[in-house]
Amino acid sequence: MNKKLLSAMCGLLACATAAFAHPNSSSMTNNSLPAAKVQHGEDCENDPLVQQADFSKVVPLPASISVGKGLFSMTAETAITYTPGADMQRNAEFLAQYVKDVTGMTLPVGTKGKTTIALRLEPKAKGFASPDAYRIAVTKKGITVTAKTAAGVFYGIQTLRKALPGIRHCANCKKVAPEVLWPLATVTDSPRFGYRGMMLDCSRHFWSVAEVKRVLDILALHNLNRFHWHLTDDQGWRFEVPGYPKLTTVGSKRAATVLGRNSELTDRTPYGPYFYTDAEIRDIVKYAADRYITIVPEVDMPGHMTAALAAYPELGCTGGPYKVGQYWGVYNDILCLGNPKTFEFIKAVIDKLCDLFPTSTYINIGGDEAPKVRWEKCPKDQALISQQGIVAKDGQSKEDLLQGYLARRVEAYLATKGRKVMGWDELLGCGVDTTATILSWRGAAPGAKGAQQGHDVVMSPTSNCYFDFDQSEDHAIEPTNCYGTLPIEKVYNWNPVADGLSEAAQRHIIGVQANVWCEYITMDHVLEYMILPRLAALSEVQWMQQDKRSWEGFVARETKLRNLYGIYGWTYAHHMWPDEFRKVAKQY
Ligand SMILES: [Zn+2]
Repeated sequence: MNKKLLSAMCGLLACATAAFAHPNSSSMTNNSLPAAKVQHGEDCENDPLVQQADFSKVVPLPASISVGKGLFSMTAETAITYTPGADMQRNAEFLAQYVKDVTGMTLPVGTKGKTTIALRLEPKAKGFASPDAYRIAVTKKGITVTAKTAAGVFYGIQTLRKALPGIRHCANCKKVAPEVLWPLATVTDSPRFGYRGMMLDCSRHFWSVAEVKRVLDILALHNLNRFHWHLTDDQGWRFEVPGYPKLTTVGSKRAATVLGRNSELTDRTPYGPYFYTDAEIRDIVKYAADRYITIVPEVDMPGHMTAALAAYPELGCTGGPYKVGQYWGVYNDILCLGNPKTFEFIKAVIDKLCDLFPTSTYINIGGDEAPKVRWEKCPKDQALISQQGIVAKDGQSKEDLLQGYLARRVEAYLATKGRKVMGWDELLGCGVDTTATILSWRGAAPGAKGAQQGHDVVMSPTSNCYFDFDQSEDHAIEPTNCYGTLPIEKVYNWNPVADGLSEAAQRHIIGVQANVWCEYITMDHVLEYMILPRLAALSEVQWMQQDKRSWEGFVARETKLRNLYGIYGWTYAHHMWPDEFRKVAKQY
């Protein structure tokens, strides 16, 4: 087998080796050390065991890197110390694990060493632009990471992790570096956006606890801090609500799933019951919180509710019967707001979400794609419209404004619990209060409009943030996906804050989020393939200032970062390395 082909195949297995550029490695080889036994190809064995760390190859690139002369030698006698506290101890243990994952070195935690990596929490420190900001100083005696918050220290640790030289390349590697050389340097960093998110759809396809945790690991590596968890939709309800047992006994399973993109055929195979128990959700919430990721739960209402209506048909306008959705798209049957029982149901759902997700300021109530055809004919909804004195205005129908009534009522209830409404940009069309935070998905224009009205906005347009879209125009060699194409360059070359937006409106754009809908994504390695490396590109959009970004620089950085994907066994797409992509995708 020729070496290039071997290398390309190795890359396909997320164990790429030869393609990596190891920074400044040529003079660092220590040939006197015995070669470590590796099981994954000759190239790994030929790599030098002693290499130099490189801050300039970190994704997202830190805001400022100042490199001096000289090196710090990190060895197994370098101890990780930390400001006392449970968060900081966990941070220290993460760092020790990361160093071991990448270099094989085992660093002592919390003890004295010849040299140290000191993790310092300094809540009153000055000069940090954000709670997530951090500073790294590398001197001859060691490394210091300083931040005002434990989260800031965590992002400093992520930068150290990503600056480490790729001694190991895949999960089976047993190589152990005797030392890592760090350039003397000062790194200061702070993110552009406070909300750096990704949404995962667990309704159309259910992801196990282990799979969700792997996604959270991927988010943490890329400095994301919000996981938007799409827990319900027409095709499945995925958590338990007291008083409504049929949500999970009936609503969490469908009789069959459509084949392809809404063909006439289904697979005639029952799917489910699939849902998360309370204990599983609490476990995931803690796993995320340990990585400074807040989970924002979503229950989409009043539309995308077929699974709940199948369980409780009295909550729909016609009374059903309804079936849990077997097809993709938008269903006409939505919650009947004229029925008081619907608000009892919504209250129970909100109470449960607030209990399960105690730290999320936002509770996402969806609000997208809610056809009003049932409400237009439903006497109960029309009575509520009359009772509330709702009349059509400014191009919005009275039924559109009835959805605003729902959103404001939920908003008022959430406010009593110290929470806020978040939802898709359709909320803007129904007269919702400006305290609602808007996810701009139908392009960036709704978000810009919402920001001008005074809403906080998270930009998540299909044009740049939908990772369920194909990664190239060559659709024949892409897995079956939603219609749409989103090459990684298009993710990267995008400014989420449009030119011409007033400064006040710009301040309302608080973040950027990727969305991963899972109608067609049904296997964990496909999920990873759709996310990586596009999420790396988006992480630079989320973290870096616009004028610091460059596609060429990103390609160089990501070419190093993917070594970590190999170590953790994550599958990733090769479109941004076209020579490799052609080899792995067209082997016929
Ligand atoms: Zn109705």
